[in-house]
Amino acid sequence: MTRKGMTLNKQIMDAQIPAVVRLAVLQRDGAQCSHCDATDTLTFQHIIPTDQGGATVLKNLRVLCATCMEIKEKKSRGTVA
Ligand SMILES: [Zn+2]
Repeated sequence: MTRKGMTLNKQIMDAQIPAVVRLAVLQRDGAQCSHCDATDTLTFQHIIPTDQGGATVLKNLRVLCATCMEIKEKKSRGTVA
């Protein structure tokens, strides 16, 4: 269980989010998925999507793992049965 730091560096590379903001989000959320507490395959989600006017700021971002992100995206597209 010592791979946390490595996976963060590899997995979190959303160029649209400034590094300083990403770090702030990670620190706030404890570098784990804010939904299921996973520490692998972490990524960032805009709580209000940018195409709906959401800003790339700390309060509009949260850490999600890839699995939870996929579920959220499917739900938001209405493709979950
Ligand atoms: Zn998760």
